[in-house]
Amino acid sequence: MRGSIKSTDEETTRPHSGAVLMDSQSPCDVLPVSSLNLQRPTEVPRLTSTGSGQSEVESQPQTLQVYLRVRPFFEEELSDKEDQGCVVIEDSQVVKLHAPKGSATLKSSERGIGVAVHKFSFTQIFGEDTSQNDLYVDTVESQVSDYLAGQNALIFSYGVTNSGKTFTIQGTAKDPGILPRVLGTTFQHIGRCQYGGMDLKPYLATDAQCLGPEQVKLEMNARAAIFATDREPLKPDGVSPGCLPSAGQSSTSTDDDAASMESGSTETGDFTFTLWVACYEIYNESVYDLLQTTSGPKSKKRATLRVCEDRAGSAYVRDLKWINIHSLEEANALLQFGNKNRSAASTKMNQSSSRSHSIFTMKLLKINGNVVERISEFSLCDLAGSERCNKTKTLGERLKEAGNINNSLLILGKCITALRNKTDKTRSCCIPFRESKLTKLFQGFFCGKGKASMIVNINQCASNYDETLHVMKFSAVAKQVVHVIPAISLESRSPCLLDRHGNPLLRTTGTDSPVPDGYVSEEELLDEEDDADVSILPLEDLLTVIENLRSKLLAERRKNMVQEMAIRKEMGDAMLQQLMESEELLSQQMVELKESHDDKLENTFEMYKEAFKEHAYQCALGRIGEDFVPVQEFIAEEEKVEALRRKLAELENLVSSLKPSTRMSTTDQSSQTVEVPLPNKGTEAGSEARYKRVFTEKCAVEKMCAEKQELIMALEKRLVGMNETLRTVHADYMDKSAELEFLRSKSEDQTKSIDDLLRENVDKDGEIALLKEEVFKLSQRSPVKTKPKRGLLANIRDSVSSPRSTVIGRTLRKNVRATPTVGGKLSS
Ligand code: ADP
Ligand code: MG
Repeated sequence: MRGSIKSTDEETTRPHSGAVLMDSQSPCDVLPVSSLNLQRPTEVPRLTSTGSGQSEVESQPQTLQVYLRVRPFFEEELSDKEDQGCVVIEDSQVVKLHAPKGSATLKSSERGIGVAVHKFSFTQIFGEDTSQNDLYVDTVESQVSDYLAGQNALIFSYGVTNSGKTFTIQGTAKDPGILPRVLGTTFQHIGRCQYGGMDLKPYLATDAQCLGPEQVKLEMNARAAIFATDREPLKPDGVSPGCLPSAGQSSTSTDDDAASMESGSTETGDFTFTLWVACYEIYNESVYDLLQTTSGPKSKKRATLRVCEDRAGSAYVRDLKWINIHSLEEANALLQFGNKNRSAASTKMNQSSSRSHSIFTMKLLKINGNVVERISEFSLCDLAGSERCNKTKTLGERLKEAGNINNSLLILGKCITALRNKTDKTRSCCIPFRESKLTKLFQGFFCGKGKASMIVNINQCASNYDETLHVMKFSAVAKQVVHVIPAISLESRSPCLLDRHGNPLLRTTGTDSPVPDGYVSEEELLDEEDDADVSILPLEDLLTVIENLRSKLLAERRKNMVQEMAIRKEMGDAMLQQLMESEELLSQQMVELKESHDDKLENTFEMYKEAFKEHAYQCALGRIGEDFVPVQEFIAEEEKVEALRRKLAELENLVSSLKPSTRMSTTDQSSQTVEVPLPNKGTEAGSEARYKRVFTEKCAVEKMCAEKQELIMALEKRLVGMNETLRTVHADYMDKSAELEFLRSKSEDQTKSIDDLLRENVDKDGEIALLKEEVFKLSQRSPVKTKPKRGLLANIRDSVSSPRSTVIGRTLRKNVRATPTVGGKLSS
């Protein structure tokens, strides 16, 4: 069953068994989630009042909060049979991954390396039905409350491309993600307590700067440039940036909460807020400002920004544009602008936006009177797709992609692993934060500057299984990272306010005070940090700085070379392993191919054998058809041949009988026998003459045979001709018979009709006799001799008495006369 659920852990593998166990000592078990992070916004600020009246943050070790979100399937994925039950959510914290058919994991497990089923636990798991609002409430809302109360927070989404990272962070117009909701909650919190001016701005990493009128003007121009641009909704990665939620959508805060937030009533005092936001991306270890307005030629290369550190070692992006926003609408426009910039840049450089990390940062300045009391930062990072080299690609393609390996993600992984293994004695400097831009910027969140949490996004596609497993393994490590938010008083965190030239102002919390103890001059800073911002130093010091930097550059180069060697070695090893794997696979495939070819060959051979047999059979049948003669014909022919043979034998007998005799007789065509006297035996001339005669006899016999043969042929021909005639005659006979049959049936019909007529005649005759009788009776009965009358009766009598005078009478008689003839004929 897939559903929405909660927590983090790791995979445990037990080779050969297929079973998976969970680490019972997981930090999740040590620290229940509920005790850490799921408090209501208004309850959250973990501020305790000390005796001196200073608020302090509670110090407690926490594991990194790692959430899992499972993206639902698309229809195309379902029709491509991607749903193979790879991801099974067991409960709100545990998920099981089952290796599907064809995955490298399954193949390895079949070979006895690793297992086919992996089990992971998370802080909380969100299934495919989880709404954006539920996700926001369960994951980020408490951190937003901390942020509004002065803490820093970082949320980053991790997963392969197309797993829903951008959807989770930004969402869509209809379904806003975390970022718009955080902005919504922030503006709800600020309410009417908005700082009116634009002269207080974040500076470096954690400070604020008081701007002069000229600088304020510049800020206003920068704002205008962004808000004046075309706000056509653009959808990079299928996500619309116009997705800020309405006030009602932003969270589940009650009306009371909203009202209290609006007036800033969770805290007391006369204060206001101002919100500044920045948006940038890291691609191939270069930082680009996404709020940079393009001026000049369009083809101009985007300016890259430097990552520097301030006096306290906090990293910041130098020259990054910070824009002061006052409403959700402005935030919306700004997001649109940033996304548009991102997609335009990725199109222009022919790169995929999924290979860059995009970071949205907001800084909330709490102002008391005209003094910045505190600054809290909330960052959201949509990480690049975590997919590794695609094994299905060719070696050349893989090498090309490996050259473009995402260094920031690689280092993030290393940092997470190092943090997991970190003991109390391990110094932070052992963790390679400084090796990538991304980790350098995030370092503070892992070292107590604020709280970080990670949202892992996965899809359930079978074809992505191996990559998804990799993501899960990474998150299992991340979940074990324990970071301690040190107990630092908010006052010690209060920002240093600088004037428009970057010099510290002698006022921090409303009262005049000396320059804070912790403040290090830029000169000192440069000695400590190689990436410090030197632009604000006096010119004469720059030479020394350059010298320092040069030596450090050399050291850095050396370090980089070592690092590069290590990376190359790592990559080389990985490639070697891949090559070995593919070699093994290929040899296996070769064996399989050979087997299948052998099978095919055998089949083909069998097929040909069958075909030959069939062909031979057909040929034999054809020949039989050609040579076929009816049996009678064959017997007749045989008889003829036998007769001829007999004749020939007779003739031969005749010839042989002639040889020993002294006399030879020959039979001519008229069968006359001629007696020829033979010459005396013993004389040569006699024998020669005898042989001549025999030869002549033989020739005569042969001739006779030929003639007989011809005769037979002629007879046969005649026989054929007669047969032909017979056949014609037979056909004629058949025709005649048919004709006769027809005539017979016709005559039968006629006879039948004559019979009918005769019967009619007999009837008529009977009628006439009756009539005559009646007439006679009538004439007998009448005493008076009737005068001859001319009328109907007289006419009848006339016609009866002289039938010859009417045509009918004549016809009847004729018929009667004819009847015996026909009847005779019929009887015959
Ligand atoms: P990624 O940023 O990891 O490459 P996207 O956020 O762009 O992935 O998501 C890819 C697609 O999946 C987008 O069209 C998005 O709208 C959709 N999607 C992601 N997660 C969800 C979800 N939980 N519910 C619905 N659609 C989602
Ligand atoms: Mg994306």
